[in-house]
Amino acid sequence: MELLKNKIKQDGVAVNEHILKVDSFINHQIEPMLMQEMGKDIAEHFKEKGITKVATIESSGIAPALMTAVSLEVPLIILKKQPSKILNQDLYQTVVTSFTKETNYELTLSKKYISAEDHVLIVDDFLANGEAATAALRLLRMSHATIAGIAVLIEKSFQPGHQKLASQGIEVYALAQIAEMAQDYVKFKD
Ligand code: 5GP
Repeated sequence: MELLKNKIKQDGVAVNEHILKVDSFINHQIEPMLMQEMGKDIAEHFKEKGITKVATIESSGIAPALMTAVSLEVPLIILKKQPSKILNQDLYQTVVTSFTKETNYELTLSKKYISAEDHVLIVDDFLANGEAATAALRLLRMSHATIAGIAVLIEKSFQPGHQKLASQGIEVYALAQIAEMAQDYVKFKD
C-alpha cells in the first residue's frame, strides 16, 4: 500500500536493523484517516472469505483491527494478555513465551465470543518473528474456528514470521513489506 510506504519513509524511524518505530502514526499517536484506509484495504482483500470476526492481540493491534472490523461490519475480539492464574473453564488460555521480549505471558479469550462456526481474520500492527500470531492461532484453534488469514500493517520480511505462518497454510497479507533495514534506512520488498 503506497500510502503506508510513503508514511513510513516520511515519519518512520529505523532504530537499527531490527526495530522500526512508527510511534507518530500507529503506536503512540494514531493517524485516524490513514488507519481507516488501512482497515479498508485489509477488508477489501479478505471480503470474499466469509469472515465473521476479526481478532487481535492487545494492545497495538486494536486500532488496525477495529478499522478492519468496521469495514467488514463484523465484531472485533481482543485476545487479552494476562498474568498467569488458575485455569478457568470459561476461557481459552495459552502461555506465550516471548523470545523477543524474554517474558512469558498468558493469552486468554472468553469462550462466549468465539465458536466453531466462526471464520476469523487475525489483524496486528507488525509481523516479525511470528510469536504473537502463532499464539493467537493456537488460542483461536482451541475453539475450532476457521482461520481465514492474518493481516498486518507492516511485515519485516527479513524475520521468519511470514514463512512460519505460510508454511502452516495460513494466508498472510501485509500492507508494507520491509526487505531490509538499518539505522535511518528502510528498503521495501519490490
Ligand atoms: P512477533 O511476535 O511477530 O515477533 O512480533 C509481533 C509484535 O511485536 C507486534 O505486535 C509488535 O507489537 C511488536 N513488534 C515487532 N517488531 C516491531 C518493530 O519493529 N516495531 C514495533 N513498533 N513493534 C514491533
